[in-house]
Amino acid sequence: MKYLSTRGATPPLSFQDAVLTGLAPDGGLLLPDRIPNVSAQLDSWRSLSFVELAKQVLTLFADDIEPAVIARLVDEAYASFDIDETVAFTELGNVQVLELFHGPTLAFKDVALQLLGKLFEHILGARDQRLNIVGATSGDTGSAAIAGVRGQGNVDIFIMFPTGRVSPLQELQMTSIPDANVHCLSVNGSFDDCQNLMKTLFADLAFKDRYHLGAVNSVNWARVLAQVVYYAYASLHFAKPVSFSVPTGNFGNIFAGYLAKRMGFPIARLLLATNENDILARFFNTGEYSRGPVRYTVTPAMDIQVASNFERFLYYHLDQDSERLNAFMADFASTGKARVEQLPSAEDFGATAINEAQTLEAIRAAHAEFGYVADPHTAVGLAAAKQLQAQIGNDEQLVCIATAHPAKFPEAVAQALDGQSVTHPRLEALRGLPPRVEQIEPDLEVLKAYVREHGSS
Ligand SMILES: *Cc1c(COP(=O)(O)O)cnc(C)c1O
Repeated sequence: MKYLSTRGATPPLSFQDAVLTGLAPDGGLLLPDRIPNVSAQLDSWRSLSFVELAKQVLTLFADDIEPAVIARLVDEAYASFDIDETVAFTELGNVQVLELFHGPTLAFKDVALQLLGKLFEHILGARDQRLNIVGATSGDTGSAAIAGVRGQGNVDIFIMFPTGRVSPLQELQMTSIPDANVHCLSVNGSFDDCQNLMKTLFADLAFKDRYHLGAVNSVNWARVLAQVVYYAYASLHFAKPVSFSVPTGNFGNIFAGYLAKRMGFPIARLLLATNENDILARFFNTGEYSRGPVRYTVTPAMDIQVASNFERFLYYHLDQDSERLNAFMADFASTGKARVEQLPSAEDFGATAINEAQTLEAIRAAHAEFGYVADPHTAVGLAAAKQLQAQIGNDEQLVCIATAHPAKFPEAVAQALDGQSVTHPRLEALRGLPPRVEQIEPDLEVLKAYVREHGSS
């Protein structure tokens, strides 16, 4: 299987090259040249564990890695999870919550980044190559990316975050990691400053080449692929076809659900749930994609205006026509808005935006009715599920994706539940650990000097 860019100007890549490349050189996102149909396998896959199903799904897309090697990497990746089955279901009335937060950093990003870390280790080891990963984070991505590659010999990871703007707990999840290949950079500026630094660094192609820069942001194809597995697994877990409610920011999570549906897994609808940053909810309801100002909410992982993975969906929506896609992206880049002629099918998608009051109310309701404590991001999904329930038939099972453990967002939980505190032993254990962090100015030359001195070359 080969990987093609949505923008149509990158020669086809193998799976392993796609994993190392991240963003395509033409600025597009990588997608497989065809989507395998699994209809004939569904019956025999129903009895598989999460890990065994992951091996089957990955083997379809990673045809340049031996199946036995894939099996080993998958086993290693998910051995770090707290529960044997990797993911868990909790029943809240007629909604099933799919908990994806039982990995090392207690966020769903671990499902993808634990596997991506193992893939990097294998691919780099076989090629005797090194990688300096540079990333910017305002929360969950940084710690999950670090947890995926800590201690690896062929990788150094540099994570930038804006000084004082990451929650103290999330900061400690990064800076308390003792491994020498982990480098946390507290940048005296905003999250945008961090992202701009990263973009300008990657635009320096000579530096990128010389220092083998790599990225782990959500555009990496392997992250999408790893996420397909839990949609597949959940869809085979119930007798009825499944509709999913998905708390959405960068569209990475829900895009994996769309792909699983196109592969033939028994998936009915995908309910896209945003917070007040509602650009995607508006697009799915009106066909217009238009940028607004970023609003800061109790669901920071979804405080996103321009969703990096949306381009992948758009490519399929525009019949895999790179010219139309490029025209849409050019319109959007120059005017801040663009539109499609035809709305995405209501049989595939529903979409809604949930405000802060509704989010806190959903935490309260889940606690009052079921004694369940949901993190605020998950609560956005629960609120959307309730709102869109009328669109779901009795012959479907509704599943809400739980993206973080509530102990990661104790302030919002306390606000919703009259000061109730929620903890997790792994987070408690971090308190008082010595932080390892370098304070830097938002200056490209300072960043380069740091990578030169501390990275591998
Ligand atoms: C990253 C994240 C999201 C958003 O996922 P996308 O793939 O960006 O749509 C939602 N909730 C939590 C807790 C996250 O960390």
